[in-house]
Amino acid sequence: SSLSGGAPARVTIDLDAIAANVRTLKGFAGDAEVMAVVKGDAYGHGLVPSARAAVAGGASWLGVAQMDEAFELRAAGVEEPVLSWLHAPGTDFDRAIVSGIDIGVPAVWELDAVVEAARRVGRTARVQCKVDTGLARNGAYGADWDALVAAAGPYVAEGAVKVVGVFTHFAFADAPTHPTVLQQQEKFADAVRDCERAGFDLEVRHMSNSAATLTTPQAAWDMVRPGLAVYGLSPVPDLGRPADYGLRAAMTVSANATVVKRIPAGQGVSYAHTYAPDHETTVVDVPIGYVDGVPRSGSNRAPVQIGGSSYTISGRVCMDQFVVDVGDAQVSAGDEVVLFGDGELGVPTAQDWADANDTISYEIVARMSSRLPRVYV
Ligand code: PLP
Repeated sequence: SSLSGGAPARVTIDLDAIAANVRTLKGFAGDAEVMAVVKGDAYGHGLVPSARAAVAGGASWLGVAQMDEAFELRAAGVEEPVLSWLHAPGTDFDRAIVSGIDIGVPAVWELDAVVEAARRVGRTARVQCKVDTGLARNGAYGADWDALVAAAGPYVAEGAVKVVGVFTHFAFADAPTHPTVLQQQEKFADAVRDCERAGFDLEVRHMSNSAATLTTPQAAWDMVRPGLAVYGLSPVPDLGRPADYGLRAAMTVSANATVVKRIPAGQGVSYAHTYAPDHETTVVDVPIGYVDGVPRSGSNRAPVQIGGSSYTISGRVCMDQFVVDVGDAQVSAGDEVVLFGDGELGVPTAQDWADANDTISYEIVARMSSRLPRVYV
């Protein structure tokens, strides 16, 4: 498909890969439903196209962090159930209720705010209570959980809210034998019982992210909540590659060479000359840099592929560009430089980039900036 505006670099998204990955995840989920997590612009893949592809693959729910992401889905005409779970005071719960968005509630202050909104708009809010079973992040912990369940009772009786779900999030899902994985399942079972005892009419109980979906099937309950695996990346790189789970990376990042030239032996390359070949060589200027989300820590470390051959970034990554020493290879202006993709035919992967930058593949894909046009294939 054509490039937008002649941009010299781009993110290409294979929507069929997203749909196929969701189908694969449904296989892991057994009878449980799949909520595709599309927060953070679908981990850099583009919120609305990715959500539609996930639905085409069998996702029956969509999950987002921020309410504006849920509004964007509704504005685009996406009608599947949506859960949003990370809200600060001031969030527009009125609009959330009217838009039929499930509100993830981790604290009494938020339940109170949702109830006020429900009374204002004259509708029943759909709420899913978030219990902290040991991540110590967003979610109600210990006595605060008991207080949240107790506070919800009268509101449910009044008809201001319906508690339709309960959920939690793992701390060590990527280490399935870690003792907290079992402990969190036990605490979650207690929390589910608390909700049932309070008389809540639960539709969904869910705790599994991608790693748990793939490695801890007994935690699936009614629904799993994968993000990373939807995009075809492995949440457990030490245990398996995407292909080992039947997943395929959806994102490819590439650019077109702008200038190719010979430089003499000893000529330092890019800022501060951190790379200086001791031989005459050919260097290729690649028009993508840290403003686009290419980590500067990839300087002299991260891999690229040009003309089917593998190279390493030479010298510093700059704001808009970096340089690659290709030796005596034949490369021309306009040739495609692939930073990472699905790993086929030796193309580097987002995991390779994560390893080269001391980070995780989540950060590599999610940080690709909005300056890079998204091209859907
Ligand atoms: N559920 C919640 C509450 C999350 O915050 C996230 C993302 O971190 C996910 C599910 C999806 O996690 P993953 O991308 O590891 O599958």
